Amino acid sequence: SKMVYYFGKTKTDGNAKQRELLGGKGANLADMTSIGLPVPPGFTCTTECCDQYYKQGRKLPKGLMDQVHKAVKLLEKENGKKFGSNTDPLLMSVRSGAAQSMPGMMDTVLNLGLNDQAVVGLANATGNERFAYDSYRRLLNMYGDVVMGVDHHAFEAEFDKIKAEQGVDLDTDVDTAGLIKLCGLYKKVIKKHTGQNFPQDPMKQLEMGITAVFSSWMVPRAIRYRQINEMTGLLGTAVNVQTMVYGNMGDDCGTGVAFTRNPSTGANKFYGEFLVNSQGEDVVAGIRTPLPCESMPKWKAPNNKTIGKQMHAELMKMKGILEKHYKDVQDIEFTIERGKLFMLQTRNGKRTGAAAVKIACDMVKEKLITEKTAVKRIPANDLTQLLLPSFDPKAKKSASPLTVGLPASPGASFGALAFTAEEAVERTHAGERVLLVRQETSPEDVDGMHSADGILTSTGGMTSHAAVVARGWGKCCVAGAGEIQIDAKAGKIKVAGKTYGRKDVLSIDGTTGEVFAGEMDTVSPKLSGDFATVMKWADKYRKLAVRTNADSPADSKRARDFGAEGIGLCRTEHMFFEGDRITAMREMILAETEGDRKKALKKLLPYQRKDFVGIFTAMKGLPVTVRLLDPPLHEFVPHDAKGQKEVAKALGISPAKVKARVAMLHEANPMLGHRGCRLSITYPEILTMQVTAIVEAAIACKKKRVEAKPEIMIPLVGTKAELALLRAKAEETIADVLAAKKFKGKLDITIGTMIEIPRAALTADEVAEEADFFSFGTNDLTQMTFGYSRDDVNSFLPDYIGHEILEKDPFQSLDTTGVGQLVAMGVAKGRSTKKKLKVGICGEHGGDPASIQFCHDTGLDYVSCSPFRVPIARLAAAQAAL
Ligand code: ADP
Ligand code: MG
Ligand code: MG
Repeated sequence: SKMVYYFGKTKTDGNAKQRELLGGKGANLADMTSIGLPVPPGFTCTTECCDQYYKQGRKLPKGLMDQVHKAVKLLEKENGKKFGSNTDPLLMSVRSGAAQSMPGMMDTVLNLGLNDQAVVGLANATGNERFAYDSYRRLLNMYGDVVMGVDHHAFEAEFDKIKAEQGVDLDTDVDTAGLIKLCGLYKKVIKKHTGQNFPQDPMKQLEMGITAVFSSWMVPRAIRYRQINEMTGLLGTAVNVQTMVYGNMGDDCGTGVAFTRNPSTGANKFYGEFLVNSQGEDVVAGIRTPLPCESMPKWKAPNNKTIGKQMHAELMKMKGILEKHYKDVQDIEFTIERGKLFMLQTRNGKRTGAAAVKIACDMVKEKLITEKTAVKRIPANDLTQLLLPSFDPKAKKSASPLTVGLPASPGASFGALAFTAEEAVERTHAGERVLLVRQETSPEDVDGMHSADGILTSTGGMTSHAAVVARGWGKCCVAGAGEIQIDAKAGKIKVAGKTYGRKDVLSIDGTTGEVFAGEMDTVSPKLSGDFATVMKWADKYRKLAVRTNADSPADSKRARDFGAEGIGLCRTEHMFFEGDRITAMREMILAETEGDRKKALKKLLPYQRKDFVGIFTAMKGLPVTVRLLDPPLHEFVPHDAKGQKEVAKALGISPAKVKARVAMLHEANPMLGHRGCRLSITYPEILTMQVTAIVEAAIACKKKRVEAKPEIMIPLVGTKAELALLRAKAEETIADVLAAKKFKGKLDITIGTMIEIPRAALTADEVAEEADFFSFGTNDLTQMTFGYSRDDVNSFLPDYIGHEILEKDPFQSLDTTGVGQLVAMGVAKGRSTKKKLKVGICGEHGGDPASIQFCHDTGLDYVSCSPFRVPIARLAAAQAAL
């Protein structure tokens, strides 16, 4: 079978569509070659090879190296140089690259093909001895690290010694003699740490390099990165073997990385950094401070004064070509070899939520993409970032920053200082809010970066590891705050003449790069401009209505501002905890007779009514689904002696009585116990009070000319008979209230149920006879379908995800294959009884884009989610429809 895909002038086997097979990098290298861009020729070993490599116990698939040898022959012909030649050697890189990008997580080895003889040949052929040995020391270092497993620091230490000997700081200031000496020392480091010599045979280097890249797919940090980013179902990494081009030949050479637009704000401005006389990762590793591409025109190479201007112009041309071709912002890697530009990589640029929105709107204006494409392209979840608070401008005005770094990833963040990734993980787990402060971050740190509230680094640019990773997650990051001196060992930083430690809190503004002492106040965002445009487009294309889960006037108003078209779930129990209501609630629960219970309920009635008036008013005529009391009663009473004593005092009864009643309420499985509609079956007066409050509130609103549209929702129904009984009771109550209030007008009140017990879904055709609407309570439905207690699931869920028994947490994203069947059946059966039955969903899943897609496909009328997720749901609903 075909395992190797060539790209070059002679032929190009692959194309942009083959990401799964060739990895993103490989597919795009082939694609860029096809459209005539200056890409050094090479070939890609497929991801299927990686899959085979692991299936066969970490062995290269049979026949792979034969195909590699053939491809190398072709490369030699195309380059007019021989791999393994001792006079003018062809050098190559081996590079990883999976279908989805995992920046810096896997390995790369550059300058393969050099050895003790070839380095002399390279020096002679190029007339540049320094360059030859600079390339060799890089190969020894990378090969030693990646293939032979020698710690990178062992090499760093030797380099530092040479620099000290020569009295220089920068790698570029080390002279040829120093580099020759360094190569000798590096070989010794390898021998000392592995007992083996650096292999002089180029073909062996290549084979081992390919093997090492396949192996890097399974290093812990790569596995962890895939977990955090929920990347599943990938075959593995491809390996790209590519002709070297040299950014390290002198001052007319360099290497750079760039985004075709600003990935942080979305501004349409080329945005990159480059480093003269450098190779590979030098730019992002922070060894020297790179220059912004903007300043490139000023770059004067010794033998060619205009080189910078020309290179900058070529890069700008490249921006145009790439954006036209890929119709999206590109994140590129390039190298300049003696005034000639080479493209080494392109991919769609990771961007913040704000940038995604701006870029999508701009590209529609530029006619690069259509409205529909714009809507489809913005990751719905990333809108969260735009809905996050930013620092209060007033608070900022009165504070002066300790220092200003680079605005690497927008947002407002504060936390106590943590100095290592492990520390950030631990302290976050312990409930602390921390800011990870590092000189720079590396792929090993991703766990801690993910845990931390924000990231602050003292070196590294806008394209440094910390910046790129933080932007991908939408996490606030300030990078390269060079005035901060970090002493990680001591757990202290020094800045602006002051010292801060683990107990101190700093605030960072990722939009401006400012760093402040202490915790700064934040304000809510404004949702205008491009954001509003995107929402308008989304509303145009979506079929699902979007409601919110809210149980206070403030939440209701916020949700309306975010575009909610009603309340899909108003949980009434939350209302019973506030202030002294809980006392009346407890009185009701502890009552021994119906009479006492009614007396207590009477005290609760005015509170409930007032809440509903507030919510109905805030929703201005939009429907409000009110769920009657759901949790088991024991949740409302204290279980400790002290708490029980206080309750006894407040209610004027004996503590022993309280204790006895609480003991009576105890249930072995409260989630499957006396709750939901079962409460109203036993204590119908609870339902009566709640329905009375709803109807009275609706009448009160009507008098204020607010059209209230309550929908009474009866929870935890499993049989038609339950609903029939409670529906009758509710209807009777409505009639009673109307009569008592002598209300003549028409009230629009419907009665429906939550479908959250599997039996209700299975018998939905019967249940629908008694229901005006269904709302899928997928939290409980998931709990009962899997038989996982959602309050205890975390004791085993991580293992289930780890073993890939489950792909993701079924409480966060609907299990469409299992639980989804019950939803689909509930809809179909319900509508077989009532064709126009209104059906929605109100679990956590209502705000999850993947679940929203399912709801759309299943023909639901609406989803309901928390206020902050309403815009996300609107966009996801449109994406589901497109
Ligand atoms: P990553 O996936 O971590 O970005 P890459 O495979 O892109 O790793 O390699 C990192 C860097 O190495 C590239 O950005 C480029 O600067 C350099 N590089 C890789 N291959 C070549 C090559 N053939 N010639 C010159 N530089 C190369
Ligand atoms: Mg790269
Ligand atoms: Mg429930």
